[in-house]
Amino acid sequence: QAKDAGRNAVRFFDPVMQQAVESRAALEADLRRAVPGQQLRLYYQVQVGDDHRPLGAEALVRWEHPVRGMVMPAQFIPVAEESSLILDVGHWVLDAACRQLAAWEKNAQMRNMVLAVNVSAQQFRMHDFVEKVTALTHSHGVNPARLKLELTESVVLNDVADVVAKMRALKEIGVKLSMDDFGMGYSSLAYLKQLPLDQLKIDQSFVRNIATDSNDAVMVQAIIDMAQNFRMEVIAEGVETEAQLDFLKRNGCLAYQGYLFSKPVPVDEFEQNVMISSPEPQTANFQLPPLV
Ligand code: C2E
Ligand code: MG
Ligand code: MG
Ligand code: MG
Repeated sequence: QAKDAGRNAVRFFDPVMQQAVESRAALEADLRRAVPGQQLRLYYQVQVGDDHRPLGAEALVRWEHPVRGMVMPAQFIPVAEESSLILDVGHWVLDAACRQLAAWEKNAQMRNMVLAVNVSAQQFRMHDFVEKVTALTHSHGVNPARLKLELTESVVLNDVADVVAKMRALKEIGVKLSMDDFGMGYSSLAYLKQLPLDQLKIDQSFVRNIATDSNDAVMVQAIIDMAQNFRMEVIAEGVETEAQLDFLKRNGCLAYQGYLFSKPVPVDEFEQNVMISSPEPQTANFQLPPLV
């Protein structure tokens, strides 16, 4: 509209492109209100061991937009990453994850859960990132060993010495570290042995075709071998079929995440699923009241 077209307005002759730019700008403007307006939500996707028992969860952010409805991270995380908004989103996510861990520590069936949180490169690059993580675990009274940070290979693309120093400092306070979407970029391969990682997470694009594509099968076997040689855990994401699970199990990958077990769900549903799949209380002499 003419009244919105101030002197900074960008005009394209291509109406499709014009619309794309405007809707992205609108999304960014709305995103500014997401944190203060309490519109972000955490969903939890279970991670299971080879006995199919829950080991923990990955926290995945969603944006409950007042008009658009539930917005998925693929639509707004890239927008947030283009500005410093990702720092606000990232801090909100870490704070919410620590609050959830504190609540789980009071619950006999949940207290052993490890919660994995995605950290963006921009967030990790902040000089006070380690201090922020320390402060959040302290203020919520959370055991840092229950918190696992998922870093992507783009994190390592930055100043490697600084990255290693920060990772060591995080290990020092007891936080777990996982390399997310492993195999998507090969940049970190050269540095892998220097990085104090607890876990490699095999990207779902490799998992998708392991049972049918021999190239992907070889890739996944190589990643599993590498993780074992570096004494790291290995987890596969995007496990959807029994055939994929079977291949992973046979090749020594003993932790899984994917729709075969559960999609990401709100916390109530997550807690119920965990209780259903771990019938024996993890604390002796403790009887849970029946589920209503
Ligand atoms: P990711 O960290 O690799 O998370 C895994 C994504 O795969 C999630 O998508 C999850 O819902 C999806 N997924 C899980 N199991 C399956 C499966 O069996 N099949 C298929 N096809 N997909 C599966 P989601 O929740 O849409 O998140 C997408 C990405 O957004 C995440 O990828 C992560 O990179 C980013 N993200 C999510 N939450 C956060 C956050 O709090 N902070 C940051 N910086 N990024 C986040
Ligand atoms: Mg992740
Ligand atoms: Mg991933
Ligand atoms: Mg992925």
